[in-house]
Amino acid sequence: MNIIFLGAPGAGKGTQAEVVAKAKNIPAISTGNIIREALANGTDMGKKAKSYMDAGQLVPDEVVIGIIKDRLAEPDCANGFILDGFPRTIPQAEALDAMGVVIDKVIEIDVSDEDIVKRMSGRRVCRKCGVTYHIDYKKPLVEGKCDTCGNELSIRPDDAPETVLDRLTVYHELTKPLRGYYAEQGKLITIEGQDKVADTTALTLKAVE
Ligand code: AMP
Repeated sequence: MNIIFLGAPGAGKGTQAEVVAKAKNIPAISTGNIIREALANGTDMGKKAKSYMDAGQLVPDEVVIGIIKDRLAEPDCANGFILDGFPRTIPQAEALDAMGVVIDKVIEIDVSDEDIVKRMSGRRVCRKCGVTYHIDYKKPLVEGKCDTCGNELSIRPDDAPETVLDRLTVYHELTKPLRGYYAEQGKLITIEGQDKVADTTALTLKAVE
């Protein structure tokens, strides 16, 4: 099954994408994580993306479309995949269609802007393995440490409050139109983000049965 997760930054789509990936044994592909990795490795693409990312803006379509094209060609995508954070614009969705990629379901995690701002301020991330935590909603086993690798958790630079507002503006202008795009194709399933991650997960798993 090929699934897209849609939602505002911080809506919890990354967490849900990981759960579904495990349940279905297919890869969860996060363009944000791929870009952060490129940045950490000092690649040209990473350097090019940094200024956009730090400002809460989207990286140019042609860059992310190239990333996804390469990633979907890898053998682990043969039995299905989950896209987390791609597409984020109509031209990106059109590029997927042009590649001949058939999407089965688009799961939108819907969270109000007010809640997004609250959630983002508590978000912590492991820079080493990319796992995301929250100081209230998804606590690590040991405060400030990654459950998977024990690395120190940190705040993503683009989770700073003023950047979050910019990212929300970008979301409303450029990404939200994708709801209509996929609703027209009969693929959109909207899930209300719940206060407890486990409750959202239960709804998500039902939606992808
Ligand atoms: P994320 O971790 O998905 O919130 O992505 C972090 C940042 O990476 C975004 O704010 C963008 O700057 C960039 N990014 C990730 N995915 C995309 C995409 N599909 N299109 C454009 N920029 C992206």
